[in-house]
Amino acid sequence: MRRINLEAFEKGVRQTHYMVFWFLGFIPAMIAGEKIGIPPDGVFAVYLLIAAFLAIRSFLLNCPQCGKNLFFRGLLVVPWPNRTCTKCGLELDKPSE
Ligand SMILES: [Zn+2]
Repeated sequence: MRRINLEAFEKGVRQTHYMVFWFLGFIPAMIAGEKIGIPPDGVFAVYLLIAAFLAIRSFLLNCPQCGKNLFFRGLLVVPWPNRTCTKCGLELDKPSE
């Protein structure tokens, strides 16, 4: 139980990395798709699917104590997970002592 906070934050960071790779990979994927004969619409459709998958994953990353989502700050959604839960104040980037 001690490590669960850290795991929540680490999962959030990993999630952020996936989103960065997704974002940076968009143009190379378009170019590569064109070279091997996949129409831009096809590449874009795959990208939308991955975006939907990442969005669902983000919504599943919650504070282990109160269940608040790591990516929500008030009404805003940010691409970087909270270090401290905005609802219950649980520190998510270090094991609770
Ligand atoms: Zn919380």
